[in-house]
Amino acid sequence: SSEDGTRSWSNTKSLALHERAAKVMPGGQANFRGGLLSTPLFFSHARGARLWDVDGNEYVDLINAGGPGILGHNDPEYIDALKRQLDTVYSLGSGICQTEQDIELAEKIASHVPCAERVRFCVTGSEAVHLALRLARAYTKRPYFIRFQTHYHGWFDSVLGGVVDEHPEGRPLPLESEQSFFHTEGRVPDAFKYSFLLPWNDIDVLEETLKKYGHEVAMIHMEPILVNGGGCPPRPGYLERVRELCDQHGIVLGFDEVITGFRVGLGGAQAALGVTPDLATFGKALGGGMPMAAVAGKAEIMDQLRTGKVTGAGTFNGYPLGVAASLATLKILERDDGAVYRRIDMMQARLKEGLLDICKRRGIPALVQGPRGVFFLLFTDKPVIYSFQELMEAALPRQFKFYSTMPEEGTLLMYGGRWYISAALTEADVDCALESADRTLARI
Ligand code: PLP
Repeated sequence: SSEDGTRSWSNTKSLALHERAAKVMPGGQANFRGGLLSTPLFFSHARGARLWDVDGNEYVDLINAGGPGILGHNDPEYIDALKRQLDTVYSLGSGICQTEQDIELAEKIASHVPCAERVRFCVTGSEAVHLALRLARAYTKRPYFIRFQTHYHGWFDSVLGGVVDEHPEGRPLPLESEQSFFHTEGRVPDAFKYSFLLPWNDIDVLEETLKKYGHEVAMIHMEPILVNGGGCPPRPGYLERVRELCDQHGIVLGFDEVITGFRVGLGGAQAALGVTPDLATFGKALGGGMPMAAVAGKAEIMDQLRTGKVTGAGTFNGYPLGVAASLATLKILERDDGAVYRRIDMMQARLKEGLLDICKRRGIPALVQGPRGVFFLLFTDKPVIYSFQELMEAALPRQFKFYSTMPEEGTLLMYGGRWYISAALTEADVDCALESADRTLARI
């Protein structure tokens, strides 16, 4: 803010960089970033829970790299671990040259995550999902998989977007649609042929589908808590019933824990919710900021990688700098019986109470929902939202205005209005973010 207390925000330098980038970079680095602001920002540096842009604007960072930043920026112990690794060896060809740290990291994951009898590292969540699907198909010798509307499993052809539609044979196949948020041209025409896209949290639809097609389904993959569709929890008993159905039909149950893994706790959503999948995919917080991902799961399925029945490869899998980053992250998260998680809980509670207070004072209906470490502020008077469809009906236009205006008031949120909490967040940061929210609501 300026000296007289009024905020002055401008993005002149960011705008100039935006124009420069447009000449060589088609749409920036990834298509989904456009939703953050009508004008993209360019950043220069970060400290703790704060980010600065090239115009000198300072922000409370509640994007946290889109999930990886569970420790915030510049955690000294994390940085030290990276520096030490840089001085030792930072890159080796995966599968050719391994380190002892690879085993230590796999052992750590296995000790925390209920389904993790075996672990294979990848670099991104998208790849982890790709490998998990391959493992499940090889294991069951079946071609199909089931996924759910508004669950996000990366950008590869067969899992991105789509809408539920009527298929000539009655199969609820996902079809390409320009209405879909994740619409893309350029897929092979049958990219969705071997999958079903169903509404989540609806056990009847799943049961019906499995009655007809269960014997053809290799895997059901889902976000066990639907962070990508509004922080929705599973309905009571839903995951337990899905587990039973998978056992009855011989289907591999997969949890996509790319967001929830190591964020909602060391054991992920599966430990928090008490339902153990057969396979789980991890990414984001696993690396604490460096790209790291993994597939973890039952020995019988994962050991197909040992026998060579299934191939999973990647030049950078288990690269030493990433493994060091993950080990440092997990060591920090394990410390003092989860002190980091307790701190995250405290800051999240302070944010939640503050936001609900502000909305109440302004006469705006509000719901804060989501698991530990990531939540949504939704403008609805419903006590809980169980699907993205409900969210659309409830709150979307105001939602969009809110999160796209927040940066001008000093706080960065993920598109959709998602708040990622890091361990670096202080009471002062929380109070700043609450003031941003209050000013934003006054404006919109
Ligand atoms: N799965 C989930 C649940 C995700 O949220 C994401 C990314 O946001 C992915 C998979 C894909 O991960 P990545 O972007 O690292 O490829």
